[in-house]
Amino acid sequence: MHFELSHEHTMLKDLVGKFVRDQLIPLESSVLARESAGQGSYLNPDETAAVDAVSRELGLWGLDAPEEVGGMNLPMVAMVGVNEELGRTAVPYTLPPDSPNLRMLMVAADERQRAAYLEPYVRGETISAIGISEPGAGADPAGMTTLAVEDGDDWIINGRKIWITRAAEADFTILMAVTDRNPAGRNAMSAFLVDRDTPGFNVLRKIPMIDGTATYEIALEDCRVPGWKMLGQRGQGFAPMQVRLGTRRIEMASWAIGMASRALDMMVDYAPQRTTFGKPLSARQTVQNWISDAATKIHAMRLMTYDCAWKIDEGRDTRSEISMIKSFCIESAYEIVDHAMQMFGAMGMTRELPLYLMSNKLRTMRIYDGPSEVHNWVVARQLLGTRE
Ligand SMILES: Cc1cc2nc3c(=O)[nH]c(=O)nc-3n(C[C@H](O)[C@H](O)[C@H](O)COP(=O)(O)OP(=O)(O)OC[C@H]3O[C@@H](n4cnc5c(N)ncnc54)[C@H](O)[C@@H]3O)c2cc1C
Repeated sequence: MHFELSHEHTMLKDLVGKFVRDQLIPLESSVLARESAGQGSYLNPDETAAVDAVSRELGLWGLDAPEEVGGMNLPMVAMVGVNEELGRTAVPYTLPPDSPNLRMLMVAADERQRAAYLEPYVRGETISAIGISEPGAGADPAGMTTLAVEDGDDWIINGRKIWITRAAEADFTILMAVTDRNPAGRNAMSAFLVDRDTPGFNVLRKIPMIDGTATYEIALEDCRVPGWKMLGQRGQGFAPMQVRLGTRRIEMASWAIGMASRALDMMVDYAPQRTTFGKPLSARQTVQNWISDAATKIHAMRLMTYDCAWKIDEGRDTRSEISMIKSFCIESAYEIVDHAMQMFGAMGMTRELPLYLMSNKLRTMRIYDGPSEVHNWVVARQLLGTRE
């Protein structure tokens, strides 16, 4: 067994680490100030342009995109290192293009869709969203009722979507809809590429989330989508959607390692400096336990996440592993960040340290892309050999 990143991937991880320290962490106080003022956590267009220019110059765009469309085709293990470094800051920044929809397009797009959607996306010219969740179907997408009906060469989509990140800003949304109802079993669902300005794609409201981001509710009202914009085969949308979800889940586990490592570093720096009742906090057993527990869990998180990424790169079935890391890494990081907040006392309760924003990010991550309880259930179900 070999758990070391290759020399080349270690150099990439170090480069991203330096980029995060030099470019993103200096922006953290502005992001926290905006979030404290109730404006949400975001980089403004000037900041984004400046950071994009540096990341592009450093060759950090299209890391896991196919070479034939200008990417570097890096394996999942390399991306774990990259995302771990990006997770070390509360600044919301994604190296273009965001991997989950990229991977879904890579597995499902035909030639025309690659030219129209994948290639501009890889070049960082477009942003995308994913529309799966509905008011009546979240953790269990099989309960989806948004319906696409064929009309000549087109599809007419009707239904409701909710909690859709970036839906109002995205150039296109990959929208999941039922295309064939099956009264005896699971409905067959398909994916569609829906442009933002498509008539009938109506953004109803913006919903502020506790991590400073926003999601949107959308109504699909006789939304007409040309037939060639069906992504993948009719009724076969579930498998590419799982590729997308799996990619996000491993990314989230990697971000969680980054957030937990930052919290651990902050605890290790602070504990010897603060004295109470005549002794530094670092002399207290509880504080030592928090530190050793964090270091141990971070070690476990890394081993599990690299193992899962390696298995994905080998083409193995990782359904259980993905659920294990999605649940374990995020729940562990949430606890580690919480211990750091506790150790900082009142300072840990301010909006001046990045810890509260990390905590709120992790809090939302315990829900999206599958709540922890659902991932735990997936693992148990596999072991028990049951479907219930
Ligand atoms: C910040 C954020 C961003 C999001 N972005 C998007 C997006 O871009 N696109 C999109 O499509 N969706 C998005 N979502 C939606 C997200 O994927 C869903 O919220 C999630 O799948 C849970 O669905 P739900 O909220 O309907 O909860 P429900 O399905 O109602 O579940 C509620 C709770 O019940 C429990 N539970 C459910 N099933 C089980 C089970 N089998 N065993 C044990 N416990 C169970 C869990 O504790 C769960 O948290 C986002 C959500 C958030 C919070």
